[in-house]
Amino acid sequence: MTQLPLRAQLASALGRSAATLSRMTGRGDGSVIGGRVGLMLEPDLLRQLARDRKLALVSATNGKTTTTRLITSALLEMGEVATNAYGANMPAGHVSALSQHKGAPFGVLEVDEKYLPEVLDTTGAGVVCLMNLSRDQMDRAAEIWLLAQKWRRALSGKPTHVIANCDDPLVTWGASTAAKVTWVAGGQRWKEDSWSCPECGGPLERKGVDWACRECTFHRPEPQWVLDDDAVIDPRGQRWLLDIQLPGLANRSNAAMALAVAEAFGLPVERALPRLREVTSVAGRYTTVERDGRHARLLLAKNPAGWLEAFDVSDPGSPIILSVNAQGPDGRDTSWLWDVDYRILRGRPVFVTGERRLDLALRLEVADVPFALCASFSEALAMQPPGRVDVIANYTAFQLIRSEFGRAV
Ligand SMILES: [Zn+2]
Repeated sequence: MTQLPLRAQLASALGRSAATLSRMTGRGDGSVIGGRVGLMLEPDLLRQLARDRKLALVSATNGKTTTTRLITSALLEMGEVATNAYGANMPAGHVSALSQHKGAPFGVLEVDEKYLPEVLDTTGAGVVCLMNLSRDQMDRAAEIWLLAQKWRRALSGKPTHVIANCDDPLVTWGASTAAKVTWVAGGQRWKEDSWSCPECGGPLERKGVDWACRECTFHRPEPQWVLDDDAVIDPRGQRWLLDIQLPGLANRSNAAMALAVAEAFGLPVERALPRLREVTSVAGRYTTVERDGRHARLLLAKNPAGWLEAFDVSDPGSPIILSVNAQGPDGRDTSWLWDVDYRILRGRPVFVTGERRLDLALRLEVADVPFALCASFSEALAMQPPGRVDVIANYTAFQLIRSEFGRAV
């Protein structure tokens, strides 16, 4: 690797010190502040840190952090990997991740959907992984269509190899200007944002997994990789049982994407797959916390598609606690709760908490799902019989439960 210019070295070192200081004073993991300090001193730092590395950028509405973690785990098979493991997914977080692993030949960066064009331009990443696009809290169809259009412009004319989920029409459209695309049939749980053709606005017709526009030529491309229940079929037609520890269909889809990315880096499935199986939890998700014999499994759901994925993972035989907040990172408006179909919870003991429990309570009332209202998560947990309980929480509600119950990994 070539040496960084002196100014970039200094910016990078000062950024790392700021991050350490921030960690020591208990202000989080420091990755954002460290990156900001570095970028202030050298605005070109991200480009310089990215140079001479093989980078993958990972973007989607849901599953970014998990897929980033899976790809990182796979690439560790080949050498050191720089990654923003804590979900700091804007340029300051990328600077911090790359500067903490200066010698790493590989980098896997989770990228906020809106920042993808900028980060791709700056880093010149060789591989981009795109999984899904759906409404996130208050976004609506028009916003995510604009986002996909920005992806198209950013990918056009670049040599980037894109790995994209062809079961999501909007992702397909966003990826299809790239010079090279490997299509993965990764499935699509949430379809409410893809009933119309992103190309012409005509109706999309679906037949089984296939989809096509009724009015123009836009259609589902032929996938090279196919997720088939609990297995993945590679481009040579070989079937691999995934058998990963992370639960649910959404994570099997993330794993299929990760295997395709690993292969784009030259890592074959037989070496990548055992590494994916080592991942047990990601930033506290899917972990179980325990108090007085109650084993609560934590699931994060930040938007309508995320709720459906969490329902898939949760155990229909257990009680379930739902916690909804509406602070900055959650979005203050909770009207998106009305987009989720909660009827699947009928017949289960349901407990509702969080700052916006009344919003959720009203939603459940209308869906005819009986529930108990609890003042706090602790109270909800204390109401459970000993044994297993599932917890679905949105962002700050999830963080609060984690900090209160210890960062079990
Ligand atoms: Zn069309």
